[in-house]
Amino acid sequence: MKPSHQRVKVFYWAMLAKGRHAAVSFQKGMSVSPAQQRQSYLAALKERVLIYDGAMGTSFDTFDLSVEDFGGERTNGNRDYLAWTRPDLVRGIHLAYLEVGCDVLETNTFQSTRLRLEEWGLGEQTHALNKHAARLARTAADEFSARDGRARYVAGAIGPTGMLPSSDDPALSGISFDELSEIFREQAVALIEGGVDVLLVETSVDILEVKAALDGLRRAKIELNRPDIAVQAQIFLDLSGRMLLGTEVPAVIATLEAMPVDVIGLNCSTGPEHMRAAIEYLTSHSRLPISCIPNAGLPIEVDGQAVFPMEPEPFARILGEFVREYGVNIVGGCCGTTPAHIKRLREVLGTQPQAAARAIEYIPSVSSGIKAAALRQDVTLTLIGERVNTLARASQEAAAERRLRRRARSGA
Ligand SMILES: [Zn+2]
Repeated sequence: MKPSHQRVKVFYWAMLAKGRHAAVSFQKGMSVSPAQQRQSYLAALKERVLIYDGAMGTSFDTFDLSVEDFGGERTNGNRDYLAWTRPDLVRGIHLAYLEVGCDVLETNTFQSTRLRLEEWGLGEQTHALNKHAARLARTAADEFSARDGRARYVAGAIGPTGMLPSSDDPALSGISFDELSEIFREQAVALIEGGVDVLLVETSVDILEVKAALDGLRRAKIELNRPDIAVQAQIFLDLSGRMLLGTEVPAVIATLEAMPVDVIGLNCSTGPEHMRAAIEYLTSHSRLPISCIPNAGLPIEVDGQAVFPMEPEPFARILGEFVREYGVNIVGGCCGTTPAHIKRLREVLGTQPQAAARAIEYIPSVSSGIKAAALRQDVTLTLIGERVNTLARASQEAAAERRLRRRARSGA
C-alpha cells in the first residue's frame, strides 16, 4: 500500500483523536492527580456501567502497515510489537476511543505472553514490552482524566497462549499448570508495573488455562503487594454456546467463582446477538459483575479475509438491551469494532449508565472441565433402621404366636 494511503488512514484516527467526531463531552471538573485520586475500578463498577474501547488488532489492519512499521522481517505481523515501532499508532487508537467516550482502554498486549513472543524471537522482551504498552495506555487515559476529572481505566489485556492444556492433543496439551501459571504471572507483573487498573484474561478457549492464568495473576498481585488490582476473566463461546473444548456456561460459573476473580464475562466470539442466552444465564446465576465485549457480528469471509459486518447501530442497541434487561455491568467492542461503534454505544447508554437489578438464583455447584453438578440437599423422609438376624426373628415370631394360641385356648 502506498504511503499516501496510509497517511490518510492515520489522519482518520488522528481526527477522531482531535475530537472532530467526539460523541460525548463529560462535564468539566477539577483536574486530578490520576494515580492517587482515581476511584478504584471495582468501586466505579458499583456505581455505573463501564464502557470499554473497541478493537485494537483489527484497527491496525486498516493501516496496511509495512514490514518497516513492524520493525523488520523477523517481527513482521506482530501487532503487539508496534508498541515499540509505531507507538504513535497505538496511542492514536487509544486516543480515538477515549475521544468517543470509553471509560476503559485495553493495552496492546493480547499476544504478549512469553510463550507467544518466543514465536517471534522476542521472549526476552516480555517484561519490557508489556510494561511499555501499559504505559502508553496509562498516559493516554490519564491525559483525558486530567481534562475533566472523570476516571479512565486501563485493562491489561492477556490473551491465550495457544496451548490447550485440557485437550488430548499431545503437542497442544504439553505444558503443566505450573508452567502456564508462571507465564501469566510474568506478564501480569509487567502490566501492573506499567500502571493497569485491572488484569483482563480474555478470549479464553480452555477453562484450565483460565485457572492457570488466575493463579498466575494472584501470585503477581502478592509479589507486588497490589491487592487493589482487579481481575476480570472473559471466555470465548462458539455458536453452540460452549467453549472450544465443550465447557458449558454453568461449569464456567462454578469453576471461576471458586477462583480469585472479580468480574466474569464473554468477549470476541460471535457478535452480541448469539451471546444473548449465555448472558441471560450468567446474569441470573453468577454473583459476580458480568462483562460482554463482542465482535462486530459473526465474521464472514471476503477474499480470504475475515470481515465483521455489524454496524454501530444494531451493535449498540443489543448491548444496551443487555445492560437494561439483564444487568450487564461492562460493555465494549472486540474484533471489527471501531470508534463509531463505541461512540454509538455511549450515545445509547448515556454518561452514567445503570445496569438493571439482577435476580440471582445462585446454585452451589462443582464442575468438571465440561459440566457443572448442582450440590442440592434432599429433604425428603429418611428411614433409619436396624436389620435384625432373620433366624432369631423367625423364632421370636414363632414364640409370640404360641403365646397367643395358649391365651386363646385358656379364654384369657
Ligand atoms: Zn475479538
